[in-house]
Amino acid sequence: MLRAQPTASHHIAGAYIDDSEGAPMACLYPATGDKVAELHEATPALIERALAAAQAAQPEWAATAPAERGRILARAAAIMRERNHDLSVLETLDTGKPLQETLVADAASGADALEYFGGLAAGLQGQMLRLAGGDFCYAERVPLGVCVGIGAWNYPTQIACWKAAPCLAAGNAMVFKPSEVTPLGALTLAEILTEAGLPPGVFNVVQGAGAVGAALVNDARTAKVSLTGSVATGHKVYAAAAAGMKQATMELGGKSPLVVFADADLEDAVSGAILGNFYSSGQICSNGTRVFVERPLRGAFVARMVERLAGVVMGDPLDEATNFGPLVSERQLESVMGFIRKGEAEGATLACGGHRANRPGWFVEPTVFTDVTDEMTIAREEIFGPVLSVLDFDSEEEVIARANATPYGLAAGVFTADLARGHRVIGRIQAGTGWINTYNLTPAGMPFGGMKLSGFGRENAAVALESYTQLKSTYVATGPVEAPF
Ligand code: NAD
Repeated sequence: MLRAQPTASHHIAGAYIDDSEGAPMACLYPATGDKVAELHEATPALIERALAAAQAAQPEWAATAPAERGRILARAAAIMRERNHDLSVLETLDTGKPLQETLVADAASGADALEYFGGLAAGLQGQMLRLAGGDFCYAERVPLGVCVGIGAWNYPTQIACWKAAPCLAAGNAMVFKPSEVTPLGALTLAEILTEAGLPPGVFNVVQGAGAVGAALVNDARTAKVSLTGSVATGHKVYAAAAAGMKQATMELGGKSPLVVFADADLEDAVSGAILGNFYSSGQICSNGTRVFVERPLRGAFVARMVERLAGVVMGDPLDEATNFGPLVSERQLESVMGFIRKGEAEGATLACGGHRANRPGWFVEPTVFTDVTDEMTIAREEIFGPVLSVLDFDSEEEVIARANATPYGLAAGVFTADLARGHRVIGRIQAGTGWINTYNLTPAGMPFGGMKLSGFGRENAAVALESYTQLKSTYVATGPVEAPF
């Protein structure tokens, strides 16, 4: 029987803590439904311990030379790369994503973030302004203090790294709560950071569902929360942060458009739509699930997509030949199947897929709908599964208006041979992250995040580092003080 390591539930002040007082949390392997680990939710006493450890460790960490902070993050990145295989197996057990994917996309991208922000740590700069009469002022970028990170279940290791790396590089401490569905990856990050020399208490992991997250956000010691999750949770977490006047970063859901013009390279456009709909079995927030195809290319696009999907290898995710895994949970499977049934009921046509796969685990066939209209539920709501909707269009103006007719604004893609048009169209789509002639690539140096209901704030790039700081200004007088009396 498969068993996942670590087996302890939490990581606080540099050590694993196995506390069985809290409610049990079973970690199930989505390809079989077998239990691979049993962890426990954090009790109020453990939440207190984690926040106290973070608060105690933060001042000294902030006083550590930024270059030394950066070296520790770089060492952690190197350890992650050395252990990539083991970490990828763990990620596969945690999420069900195929090893073929996790070997290149999870710990690897987490290591990229640690290395990138480690490199930026020593370059974090403030401002200095010369004033009249020799006076001047300066504004430093100082850390916020204790920050809380809350993760979703689709990229547990990457999300933990994307939040921890800029947070720690800027001199803050963090208490991170992974999704209760995928609790394992963040624990190994804490272990690796400790091994790389991070002082105890600077990065802590506690387990639990929404109530544990809410307790962390509501605590007076918390200066900032960075959430990756659904819009519904975003509303709650942002409201709680506002009540305590805390900073927030919200990485939420989407219903992103992917626009394919008739002059696009067909093979590349199909590849882009595969990356943006079926990688990680479609469980990616930035997916381009509304695929607008210019009418002359529509038939060829759908035919080639269906042909290419015949290359899907569904199977045991731990087998490297498998390139398509299950959904993360039975609940997610039921939710996705509900959307597929709605698509059929509302009149969309199934070009392929549409069923639960006939095998153990929570597999849904890669599904393509045609004859989709803007009003259908599958074109409006985030499905978070392997379901692609093809919508036809006739003109640039029309497709821009329809692409923007959504309350979301996370991402967008354009495929065209005409680069001027590519820039023009992506420039007018209301989305925080866009791609021209590719999809879903998120290098550490590229700001990532959403507009509208998809959230605010950005992960990755220098802007994420700055979002874990605040400006502290000082005016320095060099002459006598003038007073009216
Ligand atoms: P979710 O909103 O159900 O949960 C997200 C996290 O919030 C979990 O850790 C959960 O325990 C916690 N949580 C729930 N209620 C809370 C509360 N009241 N206070 C504090 N924490 C609370 O989302 P999910 O189902 O885990 O993930 C899927 C969603 O995440 C999708 O909508 C997807 O688009 C989004 N997502 C966004 C990004 C991005 O970067 N924009 C990336 C991945 C996933």
